[in-house]
Amino acid sequence: MPLSLIPRAFFSRVEEITPKVLHDLGVRAVILDLDNTLAPRGSHSVSSSIRAWLLQLKQDGFPLFLLSNSPPKRVIFFAQTLGIETVRGGPKPLPSGYRWVFRKLGIPSEQVAVIGDQIFTDILGGNWSGAYTILVRPLAPQTDFFTTKLLRKLERGLLRGEHNQHK
Ligand SMILES: [Mg+2]
Repeated sequence: MPLSLIPRAFFSRVEEITPKVLHDLGVRAVILDLDNTLAPRGSHSVSSSIRAWLLQLKQDGFPLFLLSNSPPKRVIFFAQTLGIETVRGGPKPLPSGYRWVFRKLGIPSEQVAVIGDQIFTDILGGNWSGAYTILVRPLAPQTDFFTTKLLRKLERGLLRGEHNQHK
């Protein structure tokens, strides 16, 4: 798969990515980022609307997986709280974690959506592994690490460039 930083789709909030949206895209399973996608970085709570959204996806039969570069203790806390399986494999953007999910489910990579807020981890790794990548706006960008803030500046520049190409 070519290395690309450009997401296949963009939504402001995860709640906009309804089961119907996923069905229409041909998606059958979802790999979720944690920090600033499901919960603000450093926070231990998930909003009621995001909890409701996760429940809706589960009830519609979408297998959900959590793939985060956060410390394992934090990832396991959320996985247990939300009832989502964690992904085994290397850190993002390496494709090994994504590929572990494809193999486990036995479905083609493009039928698995990757939903995350960062281009240089979630989207790069998702594209690299052949998944369907969906970028969302970060929940609380002010909580990002300094390095992430720098990367976000680059992301905005890249997205502007991509946007202009389509004009
Ligand atoms: Mg994130």
